[in-house]
Amino acid sequence: MLQQLAQQATATFCMIFGLLGCATNDVTGQDELRLMSQAEEIRLGEKQYPQLIQQSGGRYVADPVVTDYVQSVGQRLAQVADRDLPYEFVVINDSDWNAWALPGGKIGINRGLLLAMQSEAELAAVLAHEIVHAAAGHGANQTAATQLGRLGLDVLGALIDNPAARQASAQVGSLVLGGARAKFSRTDELEADRFGMEYMRRAGYDLQGAVELQERFLAKSKGGSAVSLFATHPPSADRVAANRVLADRTTGGYRSEQAYLSATQSLRDAAEGYEALAQGIKAYLDDDFKTALGLADKALKLDKREPAFHELRGFALLGLKRFEEGLTSANQAVRLNPDYFRHYNLRAQLYQGLGRLLDARSDYQISLSIFPTKEAQAFLDRS
Ligand SMILES: [Zn+2]
Repeated sequence: MLQQLAQQATATFCMIFGLLGCATNDVTGQDELRLMSQAEEIRLGEKQYPQLIQQSGGRYVADPVVTDYVQSVGQRLAQVADRDLPYEFVVINDSDWNAWALPGGKIGINRGLLLAMQSEAELAAVLAHEIVHAAAGHGANQTAATQLGRLGLDVLGALIDNPAARQASAQVGSLVLGGARAKFSRTDELEADRFGMEYMRRAGYDLQGAVELQERFLAKSKGGSAVSLFATHPPSADRVAANRVLADRTTGGYRSEQAYLSATQSLRDAAEGYEALAQGIKAYLDDDFKTALGLADKALKLDKREPAFHELRGFALLGLKRFEEGLTSANQAVRLNPDYFRHYNLRAQLYQGLGRLLDARSDYQISLSIFPTKEAQAFLDRS
């Protein structure tokens, strides 16, 4: 009711004054105040995008089949979106259930959430929801409105809940995205659900995928699981019911369970490895380097293509002061994902252990150019 009044007021205001900052929202068709141009919106998102990827665990790179698949489903939905933006989809190497959208159309989904889903229709539900946040300018409006440089992120509890992220933040120190815990309003969330399902329908997906996904979330939250996604998207029976009403109006469409399970098979094959990784990081943080090493080796038996497994091995060997062996693991991690800052921080520490200070300096410089950390800065200031 209040919201309706506010919308009417905005529409009237725009009609009378015909202000420059008034525009029709491409998604909702409603008049609203626009405090940021589309070019500014895209620029803001593009600036934050690489930093957010670094901050949340880096890109998932172990199996390109997974990323190609997520990108193709994302682009299929982007094509039916109401606003043309440079949409881009990235799989984040993090076990937590999470997804986010930046202003301008940059969208991330965690590896952990992919592992939890069972069909392409469910994946489409998540991506369509995030596309609506970007297309409707939810994050941009919020950012402009607050003028605090906060981001329209769906997430970021990840920094606290997730051990890998904790390890990162322990080493990262000052995060460039400080205070980026902003979340969308409840109205924005309902809008993203509603129009997200409309995008699914346009792209030919079975809308039951959105209902099933919400049911999965509800079951997990009832089981007491605290995942980041729920901080911003509290699952509720009401939400499931609302989505079901929408879904029941349209029948048919793709579910594509087989396609989904086959494209994401690597994640299931390595699932125990990712569990070992989480335990290994915990052991490393407890200074139990021997246990961390054992868990890294266990994970590597399941998937040698995962740089995070090599990285854990490198950190464990660093803790055990077996620098030369650690270097082999760090080199593997760098080779598999040369774009992730933390691999360079690890290798720099191993070089330090070996007394190779010039090599350490060079790695800290690379690390710093990707993502600023106190640790890298301190070393470079000293040397
Ligand atoms: Zn949302």
